[in-house]
Amino acid sequence: MNEISDQLHGKGRYATRTRERVAQVLHEERRYLTAHAIHELLVARGISISLSTVYRTLELLVGLGVAATRGEESGEISYVFCTVQHHHHAVCRMCGRVEEVGCGPLARFARDLRAGQGFELEDHAIELYGRCSRCTKH
Ligand SMILES: [Zn+2]
Ligand SMILES: [Zn+2]
Ligand SMILES: [Zn+2]
Repeated sequence: MNEISDQLHGKGRYATRTRERVAQVLHEERRYLTAHAIHELLVARGISISLSTVYRTLELLVGLGVAATRGEESGEISYVFCTVQHHHHAVCRMCGRVEEVGCGPLARFARDLRAGQGFELEDHAIELYGRCSRCTKH
């Protein structure tokens, strides 16, 4: 969390503390949550914060590259904690836990595409779904 804390220093103590708390909740939960759900979690911890502040802070975290968004079927946007380095999200269908995974094997796939079809892979967007280690045990 230290490197993230460094990125969260804004003007004034209140702003910094607020950002840290929102980031901390996201970091601990490790699942996609709407601003509403995050707000409820903060309030449940006794933190007094308005929903609009939660929204603003989440947008800031996205801007800093420490949170990612996903559009839900309900039309709401949900947020998840993210590290800055390139990675993908492996989402557990059972509990919703989000793991960050690399995409090393894609390099080979890109080579095969180029050799086989002459297609030059420039970018990719992948989200993986399955069951996390905790949910496969039961
Ligand atoms: Zn991420
Ligand atoms: Zn799980
Ligand atoms: Zn990748």
